[in-house]
Amino acid sequence: MYDGLSRPQCSVLTQLRISHIGLNSFLHCFHLGPSPNCTHCHVPETASHFVLACPLCCQQHLELIHKVGTAHLSLWLLLGVNSDPKPVLVFVCDNGRRLC
Ligand SMILES: [Zn+2]
Repeated sequence: MYDGLSRPQCSVLTQLRISHIGLNSFLHCFHLGPSPNCTHCHVPETASHFVLACPLCCQQHLELIHKVGTAHLSLWLLLGVNSDPKPVLVFVCDNGRRLC
């Protein structure tokens, strides 16, 4: 899964897989953010919410669906050991969030 990826890309993938990434739900656990919730949706901003559900990322979700080839996305499908990690890495990069 990590072959051919840069060190920062490997880091982002690992952090997404273990949900220890610079999203509000994780940051709030360490008192690094005022709320665990997404500022737009007011639900916990987890890796799952960020990658699969947040309407702020609607255009990136459509592009991710197109690249993966199914609208039935899941973190397992995107981040599993046999998954191509590039679509989700592009999603994170295009989103513009500073997550690491
Ligand atoms: Zn949201």
